[in-house]
Amino acid sequence: MNKRDTEIIKGVLSGNGFSFSDKEEDADIILFNTCSVRQHAEERVFGKMGMFIKQKESNPNLILGVIGCMAKFYGKDLFKKLPGLDIICSPGNIHNLKNDLEEVMSKKESISDIKDTILYDKYNCLSIRDSKISAWVSIMEGCENFCSYCVVPYTRGKEISRSLKDILNEVKYLVNEGFKEITLLGQNVNSYSCNGSNFIDLLKLINDKTNIKRIRFTTSHPKDTSSKLFKAMSDLDKVCPHLHLPLQSGSDKILKFMNRKYTSSKYKCLIDNLRKIYPECNITTDIIVGFPTETDKDFRNTYDLMKQIKFDSSFIFKYSPRIKTKAFELEDDVTNSKKKERNNKLLELQNDISFCKNKKYVNKKINVLVEARTNKKIHTKQGSKSLKNYIGRSLDNRLIFLKGSKGLVGKEVEAKIIKATPHTLIAIESNG
Ligand code: SF4
Repeated sequence: MNKRDTEIIKGVLSGNGFSFSDKEEDADIILFNTCSVRQHAEERVFGKMGMFIKQKESNPNLILGVIGCMAKFYGKDLFKKLPGLDIICSPGNIHNLKNDLEEVMSKKESISDIKDTILYDKYNCLSIRDSKISAWVSIMEGCENFCSYCVVPYTRGKEISRSLKDILNEVKYLVNEGFKEITLLGQNVNSYSCNGSNFIDLLKLINDKTNIKRIRFTTSHPKDTSSKLFKAMSDLDKVCPHLHLPLQSGSDKILKFMNRKYTSSKYKCLIDNLRKIYPECNITTDIIVGFPTETDKDFRNTYDLMKQIKFDSSFIFKYSPRIKTKAFELEDDVTNSKKKERNNKLLELQNDISFCKNKKYVNKKINVLVEARTNKKIHTKQGSKSLKNYIGRSLDNRLIFLKGSKGLVGKEVEAKIIKATPHTLIAIESNG
C-alpha cells in the first residue's frame, strides 16, 4: 500500500514541475513516506528526520515533510516531536502535496494536511510506477477489523471501496500502457463492496472485460474468505493460482487475543477446501511470534499447524507493541530472545518445506512472466554465454531467475526449471 502511495506521490510531484535528486544533500525538499506498522521503521524515521532538522540550521530553506501513516497516527504531535518539520500529510491527502508544498514555500509556515478526503481524488492522479510490467491497483483503503496488534485502522481509517468503473478504467489504461499483470490491493480485499458488488464480482469483471494477462490480489482475511472465492479463482483464467492468507497464530487463545475472529481449525478447514477446489494454488501466510502471553504450548500449536498445512512460503514477524492498539494494554511478556528463538524455529521449518516444494519443479516446464534484467549471476550448465540473465515470476508467484535470449522483458516465456533453492527457482528459456 505504501509503495503504491509512493508511486502516486512521485506522479503528483513530477507532474507539477518538481524533479528528483539522487542525493539527499542536493535536495531542497525531503519527504518521508512512512509506515507505522513496525516500531523499528518509525524509530528510523525519527532518527533520520532529526538529522535533517539539524541541517536546517545551515540551510533554513530546506523543506521537510512526513507523509503517510505516521502523519495520520501522530497528527500535529509530530511538530512537537520533530520541531522544524514543515509538512505532515496523511495517506488520504497525498494528491494535495503540490498545494501543501506551495503553501509552505509561500507562507513560510508549517502545514498539517491530515483531514480525510475522497478516495477518488487520490487514485485519479498520474503515477510514476516502479515497474512497466506489473502494476499495483488499489481497490479499497482502510480497515475496520481492529486486530489487536495493528495500527492500520488508526492510520488508514474506515474501509472505503473504489467503484468498479474506476478500477476497470485503471486496469484498461494499464493494459494500453503495456502492463501484463496487476495486483489488486487492499487491507482486506475480500470485504470489497461497492453498490452491491463484491470482490468476486470485481475479479470476474476484470477477468472478462480487460486484456490483462495476470490478475493477483492481496491481502485476504480468513474470516471473509470462502469456497466461493476459491471456486472463482479456479474458474477465472486470468486469476493467478496464489492466495496469501495470513494465519498469524496456530493457538486459539492467541487468535482470540489478536481479535482475528477465526480459530485454528476454521483456518485449517479453509485450507483443506482450497486444496480440494484448487489443488495447484500456492498458499502463503503471515505469522506473528511472541504475542503477549504466548507460551511454549501456544507456539507449539503454531509450529504444528504450519507443519500440517505446509505453506509454500511465510513471512514471520516478531511481535512489536504499537501504541493506541488493544494489545498495547497487554504486557509484552515474551522476551526478545524467546521471540528470536521462535522466529528462527519457524524460519527453519518453512525453509525446509519451501525447499521440498520447490524441488518438485526441477525438470518441469513452467510459464514465466519476465519482469526485468538482473545483474545476479545465474549459473547453468546448459545454454551459451550469450544468454541474458532475467528475473520473473511463475503463475503461482514463485520467484524465478532465468537465463534466456535477448529482449524477454515483459514477455511470458516457457522455461525449464533446472535448480531449486528454498526461495527461488533457477530456469532456462525453453525452446519447446
Ligand atoms: S485485517 Fe487486521 S492486520 Fe489487517 S489491516 Fe486490518 S486490522 Fe490490520
